[in-house]
Amino acid sequence: MQQFDIIVIGAGSAGSAAAARLAQDGKYRVCLVEAGGKNTHIFTRTPGLIAMMPDKSNWAFDTEPMAGLNGRIGYQPRGRGMGGSSATNGMVYIRGNPWDYDNWSALGCTGWAWNDVLPVFKRQEDSFRGADDLHGSGGSLHVNRQISPSPVATAFVEAAEQLQIPRNDDFNGPRQEGVGLYDVTQHNGERWSAARAFVDPLAGKPNFTVLTDALVERIVIEDGRATGVTIRRGGKRETLAAAGGVVLSAGAFGSPQILMLSGIGPGDELQRHGIRVVLDKAAVGADLQDHCDFVAGYELDDPSLFGGSLKVALRVARAFIEHRFRRTGMLTTNYAESGGFVTLRPGAPAPDIQFHFIRAIIQDHGRDKLKESGFSLHVCVLRPESRGWVKLNSADPATAPAINPNFLSDPRDMDLMIDAARLLHRIAETPPLSALGAKDRNPIDYADQSAVETRIREVADTIYHPVGTCRMGPNADDVVDPALAFRGIANLWVADASIMPRLVSGNTNAPSIMIGERCGDFVKAALG
Ligand SMILES: Cc1cc2nc3c(=O)[nH]c(=O)nc-3n(C[C@H](O)[C@H](O)[C@H](O)COP(=O)(O)OP(=O)(O)OC[C@H]3O[C@@H](n4cnc5c(N)ncnc54)[C@H](O)[C@@H]3O)c2cc1C
Repeated sequence: MQQFDIIVIGAGSAGSAAAARLAQDGKYRVCLVEAGGKNTHIFTRTPGLIAMMPDKSNWAFDTEPMAGLNGRIGYQPRGRGMGGSSATNGMVYIRGNPWDYDNWSALGCTGWAWNDVLPVFKRQEDSFRGADDLHGSGGSLHVNRQISPSPVATAFVEAAEQLQIPRNDDFNGPRQEGVGLYDVTQHNGERWSAARAFVDPLAGKPNFTVLTDALVERIVIEDGRATGVTIRRGGKRETLAAAGGVVLSAGAFGSPQILMLSGIGPGDELQRHGIRVVLDKAAVGADLQDHCDFVAGYELDDPSLFGGSLKVALRVARAFIEHRFRRTGMLTTNYAESGGFVTLRPGAPAPDIQFHFIRAIIQDHGRDKLKESGFSLHVCVLRPESRGWVKLNSADPATAPAINPNFLSDPRDMDLMIDAARLLHRIAETPPLSALGAKDRNPIDYADQSAVETRIREVADTIYHPVGTCRMGPNADDVVDPALAFRGIANLWVADASIMPRLVSGNTNAPSIMIGERCGDFVKAALG
């Protein structure tokens, strides 16, 4: 049996940062176990080629039918392989709103207020903005300005400005409200996943082992302590021992699934699948929160936009050469180029909706492979009231978990979404965006409230920010405590998006990376 001090499960945004933090000083023998592959191929590295990413790099989960979406089955892509979802995501670098973290602290998560987390965000990043009160330089997570954004992305920003939404050139600056171009986790025109930022620099360190293509089946619990993991690799099952403990970073769906497979979770759910109950914990898999997103697609024959036609394919081929030699051009795109934050409800503590302008028509998560060029406009509700869950479909670790985000089950989310969709439409109808003459693919009467609601139920789905399924909190029934230690099992920590007690007001990659690195520090402090 291979022996380590600490095993980190999942080399995603948080797991990469946690493992690196733990392995850095050489004190512990750290093993990072990842179900997927190395993810070093060109489709991961070249931002604009994301659509060509191999299927094996995506868990591609289907959800349960959702009542709020007319019984539709939603889609939840998740990165599989080194970097996890940071190797497949839209690269938008947003930390959330300072209020989010002050709220976590007010909920009893001591040590998670904005002033506690800001130094970690700063020390992790290498921002093109340089070091100041709010930004960091010299960290290993490169944050850059977009190299070659589409003029149409800028037209979206200018149209919003015409509607008195202020311009914002730094959403991680003193003010989150407003519209602008997003900063991206890229370096020299390439994607900068958490694996590239944190794991790659430690390659060859004798105390650091990375196992890829290794599916963790369960955590080994002995006498109430986590002592290792069972993995399946190359058709064989093996157990890895961890003298100091296990950090679980398999993401908002993977982490609750692994806990339940290990006998930790809602007792009745475990028994239903014939799993021996080690610890009955109802909060495992509960409280799933995600950003429900409304999308409208617009056809536009513009040379800067993507589509599935032969003309665009030839353009992309030329852009590929430009990207290889100059690191510029349309293949540096992160697709979600512009957007912003708006407060629709008076008295809201922070912006309550977020826009994404996408440089292609992504209406069914891009699965419809449309021929038409164009763009899509997205808007999501930032702090949803709806709550979903993750359960098991089977006791077989290779079977996907059952996922129900329960979108729009709370009427407050629908109310806000209707106003948000209307504002999005007004931006589309305002010059200079409207002057481009794009064709709305699914026109409706936005003055008619019920027509808007119907359309939302027909098209809304995730914008890929599931959290909350292993929530952190001050109470015994919370999954982890504010030092991310599992409540009820010793030597076990959870560090990924699943621990967020409330979804942050923005994209979730930077917060997950911050959580991972903090967990590394918590584990070090606990082990001494
Ligand atoms: C398509 C898409 C676009 C997105 N766009 C953005 C964006 O532009 N900006 C932003 O901030 N956020 C974005 N996000 C969200 C962001 O990337 C995630 O919130 C973040 O990466 C979550 O980090 P994590 O560590 O919780 O999970 P992940 O990064 O998903 O990592 C979990 C890791 O665990 C591994 N794993 C799971 N189960 C097992 C197992 N049984 N055994 C071994 N390994 C396992 C997985 O393969 C994966 O590598 C996007 C996400 C997606 C999917």
